[in-house]
Amino acid sequence: MKYKEPYVTLEDLLKILPAEYTPQDRDLVVRAYRVAAEAHKTQTRKSGEPYITHCVAVASILVEEFRVPVEVTAAALLHDTVEDTPLTTEDIERDFGPRVAGLVHAVTKLDSLPRVSRSLAASESLADDEASRVIMRKKTLSNENLRKIIMSIVEDPSVALIKLADRLHNMRTLQSMRPDKQRRIATETMDIFVPLANRLGLWQIKWQLEDLSFRYLEPEKYKWIAAKLEANREKREREIREIVIQVKTLMDRNNVIADVSGRPKHIYSIYRKMVEKQKSFEEVLDIRAVRIIVEPQNAQNMTPAERDVAGKQLCYTVLGIVHSNWRPIPGEFDDYIANPKDNDYQSLHTAVIYNDGKPLEVQIRTPKMHEQAEYGIAAHWRYKEKIDHDHDRYLVERLNRMRSMLDWSKDIEDPDEFAEGVKKEVFSKRIYVMTPKGDIIDLPEGATPIDFAYYIHTDIGHRCRGARVNHKNVPLNYTLHNGDLVEILTIRQGGPSRDWLVKDLGMIKTTRARVKIQQYFKKQNAVNNSAEGRKMLESNFRRIGLKLEDEIENLIKAFRYQNANQLYAAIGAGDLDISRVLQYLSERDRKEQNRLPPARRHSTTFGDFQINGLPANVPGSLARCCNPIPPEAIIGLVSQGRGVRIHRQDCPNILRVADRGRLIKLDWGQRRESYPVPVLIKAYDRPNLVQEIVSVISNENINLGSLKADGPQTSGKRGYATGLASIQITLEVPDLETLARVLGQISKIQNVIDVYRVRERTN
Ligand code: MN
Repeated sequence: MKYKEPYVTLEDLLKILPAEYTPQDRDLVVRAYRVAAEAHKTQTRKSGEPYITHCVAVASILVEEFRVPVEVTAAALLHDTVEDTPLTTEDIERDFGPRVAGLVHAVTKLDSLPRVSRSLAASESLADDEASRVIMRKKTLSNENLRKIIMSIVEDPSVALIKLADRLHNMRTLQSMRPDKQRRIATETMDIFVPLANRLGLWQIKWQLEDLSFRYLEPEKYKWIAAKLEANREKREREIREIVIQVKTLMDRNNVIADVSGRPKHIYSIYRKMVEKQKSFEEVLDIRAVRIIVEPQNAQNMTPAERDVAGKQLCYTVLGIVHSNWRPIPGEFDDYIANPKDNDYQSLHTAVIYNDGKPLEVQIRTPKMHEQAEYGIAAHWRYKEKIDHDHDRYLVERLNRMRSMLDWSKDIEDPDEFAEGVKKEVFSKRIYVMTPKGDIIDLPEGATPIDFAYYIHTDIGHRCRGARVNHKNVPLNYTLHNGDLVEILTIRQGGPSRDWLVKDLGMIKTTRARVKIQQYFKKQNAVNNSAEGRKMLESNFRRIGLKLEDEIENLIKAFRYQNANQLYAAIGAGDLDISRVLQYLSERDRKEQNRLPPARRHSTTFGDFQINGLPANVPGSLARCCNPIPPEAIIGLVSQGRGVRIHRQDCPNILRVADRGRLIKLDWGQRRESYPVPVLIKAYDRPNLVQEIVSVISNENINLGSLKADGPQTSGKRGYATGLASIQITLEVPDLETLARVLGQISKIQNVIDVYRVRERTN
């Protein structure tokens, strides 16, 4: 028996329309319904239901959750007509006006791209050129989609709301899809729509999307948690009821008007807590949580501004009451009223030891903060105050902030780069750091002092030469942490360094900084860029022991420039990242070595070895019974649903196989080799120099074959610490790219003046 979502009818929708809707508004809804029903009348959904049920469901979600204005409701009813039926935007404009037509048009624009999910290129074999091309295309299309979604939200958040409600209903009815489609859609939902809902503060949509996606992505885990929750339900609810009464009594005793409730737990959030905090299901569930919503005594007689101030004060008062009644747990207090989250979430969070000695989480907020927390950007439709210019201003402010957060994006043409930028800036976790004046700046996780400098001002970024974090000097690629106090040391005049753009060096994390630096170099003259680009390329080549003149022709061809100068200028201007050049050389090297595997056969890596002959995308595993090791002859046994087991050819289990059709021919491929590469480092000696070099190497998981330091370091003349030291090391690296990356990082260590690969037998 398949679970079926009961569907909503027009009558149901009419029943839940907000009281503010006028008779004309209700009439508009009915008309939109009739036009949509007529347009979709021949269409059915995968589940077999009439297509119009989907349109009504989307409209109902918006009305029920957000009490949207009537134009949004009408547009939701019509949202699929332009794409899937002969109806045009002009038809809709004529019948329903420009606002409804504009919304339908914007939603259609988002849909007009093929509905493909972001594929994970990394997990696929890049050996198959055709496959990788398809994957790249899909990825780009989906990123293009993301770009459109983000841009449309900045223009009009109602478009995003319709899109999210559409996605929510599609997720609720996903069970009629094929399993592979279910997974794809669920993945896309987790990747794009959940962060989007979070960003817009739409908690009610967010948790539902999360739980639904989780159900299709991890069905076993979902069922397990759901079943455990169900088994515990009664006991848990009883416990919470008692706590709520206790808290309520405490509030009454202090003359505080409060609405106290238990906080529901959602399946995905339980799962994430288990994973993130390494807790068992019982431990996660043991944390009881209540929410206290408080309103000042005579709130009705206050202006909205007065009410806000009094409300905030009351929250802190209530915090004090809670803390004096139960012992607070240190480190658990978060003041999101003074420091709202990115999506404008405000509340006080604390945890105390409850009467039974177990922890109790408490959230304290006003009704207005509560609406914001649950409905985010849509809260202003729900939370009606008498005269509410306040919320309109708030909405405009919010959109302006989102626009400024994306101000770099208009300069990006490439949808992939755009998507990467949005994911980093808008969707990633944020850290909070401080300026010396005490201002709080939020940056994406992993940001560096240079990112910080560009955030303060483009000019500070350009002139940044050093940084101090918590009063200590740090390298410019230092990773900032929550609460860091950051000072930027600048020179009076000058520009950014081209090295900052080299991805491998990790000097910047934000797209904002990248775009600003690129813009700086684009403004430099081409001759200058070309000279600088050439210098950078030469020094990188010298480091890894290659000659630029041997390679330049290949590079011009591979990266499609007309001549060397153009290529140098692109590097100098930051359009072409040196890491990409090195990656190209490295890949070419690898291909030349790997001519061995016969055509149309795939190779799979096993530890240090590859195995040739396994079909693509079929998992292989070494059989336990015979544990083959190279160069013993091997053979594959195809087992039902478990991929291919790799046995020794003379394994008794193989000899016994009756159906010889299940056997496939395999052989050992190349060993994944690493090559010892001698490297020379020249540096002015200083304490900890060698340790820092060694830690760069070990961070890259590279074996250090040998290390020999000459000069002041080992001479024992500690008094002459400024002398030149030369350090010889042997690195065991798998390819050129890795070598280039490690040497690039070593060259950035303080006091290192040169590092390069020593060519054997040439000196
Ligand atoms: Mn739809």
